Amino acid sequence: MSGTASTQVLVAGAGPVGMIAALALARAGFSTVLAGPPASEADRRTTAVMAPSLAFLASLGLQDDAFEGAAPLKTMRIIDATSRLVRSPTVTFHAAEIGESRFGLNIPNRLLNAALERAVAAEAGITRVEKPVNDWNLGDLAAEAVFADGEMIASQLVVAADGRNSPARDAAGIRARRHELPQAALVVSFSHARPHGGSSTEFHTEDGPFTQVPLPGDRSSLVWVTKPSYAQELLALDGETLALRIEERMQSMLGKISVEDGRQVYPLAEISASPVALSRVALVGEAAHVFPPIGAQGLNLGIRDVEDVVAAAAAHRDDPGSPAALNAYVRRRLGDVTARSGLVNLLNRSLLSSFLPAQIARTAGLTAMREIGPLRTFAMREGLRPGSGFSSLFHRSREQVGR
Ligand SMILES: Cc1cc2nc3c(=O)[nH]c(=O)nc-3n(C[C@H](O)[C@H](O)[C@H](O)COP(=O)(O)OP(=O)(O)OC[C@H]3O[C@@H](n4cnc5c(N)ncnc54)[C@H](O)[C@@H]3O)c2cc1C
Repeated sequence: MSGTASTQVLVAGAGPVGMIAALALARAGFSTVLAGPPASEADRRTTAVMAPSLAFLASLGLQDDAFEGAAPLKTMRIIDATSRLVRSPTVTFHAAEIGESRFGLNIPNRLLNAALERAVAAEAGITRVEKPVNDWNLGDLAAEAVFADGEMIASQLVVAADGRNSPARDAAGIRARRHELPQAALVVSFSHARPHGGSSTEFHTEDGPFTQVPLPGDRSSLVWVTKPSYAQELLALDGETLALRIEERMQSMLGKISVEDGRQVYPLAEISASPVALSRVALVGEAAHVFPPIGAQGLNLGIRDVEDVVAAAAAHRDDPGSPAALNAYVRRRLGDVTARSGLVNLLNRSLLSSFLPAQIARTAGLTAMREIGPLRTFAMREGLRPGSGFSSLFHRSREQVGR
């Protein structure tokens, strides 16, 4: 492509959310350009992709077998590992309790991105431009992406999947509230002597959650949220010492541990953009919301952004970037993004806070979830997809009334 080209939709950012957005928009019949450098192959994180997100990916042609190196997530456990006065009981969620064989799949990001890149390359409706957008001209009738070599692409709608520092968000004049957290996440994969049985365990500590997630075989991935200085210390440790620290933190639950090569540290932040669409730009993924990695919510929320941006665009096919289409998208996302980000941030802050009422509230919530079966079922369904907990409660009460 050279000179000024035009397309219905331009997706800026080829991270996981951008690639999924481009696939979904092209499948919905929009001419789509996906602009941005390929996702980093150096990403050592893994992502727990929940069942509703997997179903959406399957609808785009990405079935389970597209994701090598993934492991099913059958059980999720929360253990209070703080030494506070008020501590929560251990709560365990089994997918079988809600009639599912798994909550989702834990997929290494490198392999998830590779699968998405293959699908994008095979999709005839996507034009791939492997360079960043350098500048934006956002007008009433069209948005223009300007590249460093002078190339320009005009579109009716820009889907901004350009990450937490989103240049498209700034160009659209969308305000982003940002709070850098006194936390960082060390990520590393490891093998262990005892089988994990498809279980993920989240240990809640005073510095944040420490989460083990299963990988195929006797292997797991770890997200250790802690103080930035301690994360750097862990990064620099020799393998044996780090393995001992992990084993100690996990109360030897998986036996002896050997860490694999390729640790990384991610700084953490809370970012929330409002409104999520303006001036022909709709924000998706981390361009719209960033929160700490608790309960595997970030990418799953980003995938729901994609579902809603496609639905809003499809309902305004003549001009998918019109104010009416953008307003429809804003309305669709408001409840889910606010509730999900708010809940995760609240849980994280309740861990960091030594404020007694916050401890009591967290403990009361987790105790209720452990003791009250329907509440636990509700939480599991809501954790997978907003609204599905309410609809299962509704079905259950209808059944009871019918009896
Ligand atoms: C330690 C950790 C563990 C996590 N675990 C989970 C989990 O288990 N489950 C879950 O659901 N979520 C998880 N998350 C969250 C998840 O990783 C993010 O939600 C997800 O990566 C966001 O993807 P994205 O495509 O929005 O952003 P990014 O991956 O940041 O992609 C943004 C892309 O935009 C590109 N870009 C930037 N500027 C431009 C430009 N000017 N033009 C074009 N392109 C541009 C960048 O090159 C990049 O490729 C985790 C996060 C962390 C930190």
